[in-house]
Amino acid sequence: MTDLYGAIDLGGTKVRALVADLDGNVCGEEMHPTEADRGQDSVIDRMIETLRSAAGQAQVRAEDLRAVGVASPGALDLVRGLVFEAAQLPGWDGVPLARIIGDRLGVPALLENDANAAALGENRFGAGRGTRQMIFLTISTGVGGGIIIDGKVYHGATGAAGELGHVVLNVDGPRCLCNARGCLEAYASGTGIAWRARELVERGEAPGLARVVEEGSELGADEVAGTARAGDRDALRLFDEAGFYLGVALANFINIFNPEAIVIGGSLRKLGERYLGPAAEVVHREALRQPYADVHIVEAELGDDAPAIGAALLAAESMTD
Ligand SMILES: [Zn+2]
Repeated sequence: MTDLYGAIDLGGTKVRALVADLDGNVCGEEMHPTEADRGQDSVIDRMIETLRSAAGQAQVRAEDLRAVGVASPGALDLVRGLVFEAAQLPGWDGVPLARIIGDRLGVPALLENDANAAALGENRFGAGRGTRQMIFLTISTGVGGGIIIDGKVYHGATGAAGELGHVVLNVDGPRCLCNARGCLEAYASGTGIAWRARELVERGEAPGLARVVEEGSELGADEVAGTARAGDRDALRLFDEAGFYLGVALANFINIFNPEAIVIGGSLRKLGERYLGPAAEVVHREALRQPYADVHIVEAELGDDAPAIGAALLAAESMTD
């Protein structure tokens, strides 16, 4: 038995595994493609194999790790430890992922939502270190979130808390993947921005974006961003609107949680001023003065490693609590 903990972050395209000590020092790290279309058995084999190589780098056997944290996307039942089908995980139907991995290795394993795990990672070792009350948002294809209260992930009654991407900001707004209207995710995620761009093109309201389609490109968030950078008014408006609603959401989080820090990660935050600029203005205008004065809104520091680092911490804390 060692004092090392393992983590596996199951992503839609990549499986990351790492081995770390209690202080978050990473001693081994490995990454392999998920190949989710091969089905759950193959993905689980891949997860174990990835952890074994990370453990090998740390010169331990995966079987000798104290515990393993598993970060997963999609719909989870954290009470029963089940992973359900999601866009990234076709065909998964209530898979007891942590139990399977724990049984195969003979090591305690526990499951966590990937955004919650990332929130904990950023809270201890990233941009939120030193804070006890923290909100984490990750803006990429979707918008994920995590709530840290008194230094711990807040799970709610049945483990479903922290879906900050689905805070409803405009009941007459665009339809979200979750079926509600006007969620933060529908406005600010890569998928949301791309959908809204395509809608404008179909209505014949965005000639600059229509040209991208005519030139044969798929109209994704990157293309919309490129068109915005070239000064196209309609593309810019989509980002202004995304920024506006992000600001509304942040003002609400500040008023509800009075956090010390809001940490924003994910690939889309890199769009910078166009996006976070309008958001900052709205927050300044709309949030209550006292909690606004106390909050720091900062960029995430751990990047793609955040969920795995958080999952290792959860594994460690599950053994020391
Ligand atoms: Zn939603």
